[in-house]
Amino acid sequence: MLANWDNSYAALPPQMFTRQSPVAVAAPQGLILNSEHADELGIIFDDDWPAFMAGNQISQGADPIAQAYAGHQFGHWNPQLGDGRAVLLGEVFGPQGRFDIQLKGAGRTAWSRNGDGRAWYGPVLREYLISEAMHALGIPTTRALAAVATGETILREQGPLPGAVICRTASSHIRVGTFQYFAARDDTLALEALLHQAIARHYREAQTAEQFLSAAVAEQARLIAQWMGVGFIHGVMNTDNSHVGGITIDYGPCAFMDDFVPMKTFSSIDRQGRYAYGNQPNLAAWNMAQLATALLPLTEDRDAGITCFTEIVQGFGDIFDSEYAAVFARKIGLTPNQETDALIDGLLKMMANIGADFTLCFRALATGKIHTHLGTHPDFANWHANWQAAGPAQGELEQVNPSIIPRNHLVEAMIAEAVAGDMQLFHALHRALKTPFLRCDTPRFIAAPSPQEIVKQTFCGT
Ligand code: AMP
Ligand code: MG
Repeated sequence: MLANWDNSYAALPPQMFTRQSPVAVAAPQGLILNSEHADELGIIFDDDWPAFMAGNQISQGADPIAQAYAGHQFGHWNPQLGDGRAVLLGEVFGPQGRFDIQLKGAGRTAWSRNGDGRAWYGPVLREYLISEAMHALGIPTTRALAAVATGETILREQGPLPGAVICRTASSHIRVGTFQYFAARDDTLALEALLHQAIARHYREAQTAEQFLSAAVAEQARLIAQWMGVGFIHGVMNTDNSHVGGITIDYGPCAFMDDFVPMKTFSSIDRQGRYAYGNQPNLAAWNMAQLATALLPLTEDRDAGITCFTEIVQGFGDIFDSEYAAVFARKIGLTPNQETDALIDGLLKMMANIGADFTLCFRALATGKIHTHLGTHPDFANWHANWQAAGPAQGELEQVNPSIIPRNHLVEAMIAEAVAGDMQLFHALHRALKTPFLRCDTPRFIAAPSPQEIVKQTFCGT
């Protein structure tokens, strides 16, 4: 493995991480390598890539660390989390700039608590497939560079499972919880260094904590609006899983909705529906308030800082509303305005009433078959006439509304088959999800699940 390493995080104050090499695995066997992405990163792999992507060999120039962070988990403060099953190998500098290269499932670290630091096929292939699908949908996200089977058996509630490691890449791994970790320890020196690092990685135009916060809030609002536009439910929007650069991170019990239910949750641990589809904007704003609080020690005048930061966080709602309006206006082929808003509301209400499939409905607007999904609704004829009268750019809708998303029942089937040793479904889904706006020629990948196939719950399954 050859790469142009340049490890800026490992040069930060030492309390921000622990030096930690990945723990070697028994028998690394490559499952998939993302060669296109490797090219984008300027990384050259040889036939022995699985050894590097499992952590058994370390590329020259890497400087592996495990990062410190804290977080609010379901609203409860946890002062110490950190990379318990991940190792940041370092940062590479390639044609597209600076990227973190991280191995997840790389063994125990100083932050592992009672965990084994490992991952099994399920979460690894899930994250690989869904993060790459998000990227193909044009939604900011961490990426997947490789997945490797470890040849080891992992013990989980479900029983013994085959182990795997995913290599993910990201514009950084700086979370709201990273700022919280140092704020909670009154470590202004580390907080300052982290702010500079985060600005350098994400918002070069920002010069102050205030400007950084404004940019982070705006990007987060933009991101959540995009999630809403594809029916994505993250499932664990804890502050340690909330990225300050406005990218999707940490694919746990996440899911795409089939039938449209405005307050849908899938995650088995989200019993109160804190992270339900329709709560995502509120919870993202709450996370931004935690970021603001963590940045306060960096302001010269605390009272003035509170006033100013409160205003910035309160601005989340307006930014989100206009991003959301823009996303959904595009989805129905119109420009955002009051009439468009009413059409979007009307459409979503009918979909919710009928329990229509979110993805199929929007796609059907593009293909002129929307009546087959909503035609029985009493408001449909009227809505359709108003939509047509508004002059939608129907020809462009296929570029906006995907025909294929990683549906839960297919993801679950893919994992079951992979555990049984068959990776065909993984590869077929992965291929189809690369071009979500093209017509997909595998009906099974497009269709909503049959009643027996519906997945009602998803699990963290680390
Ligand atoms: P997450 O599921 O990504 O929100 O993880 C929450 C915290 O639990 C993080 O600090 C992880 O590093 C840690 N964690 C999750 N799974 C494991 C594991 N198998 N071994 C050690 N730590 C883990
Ligand atoms: Mg996490």
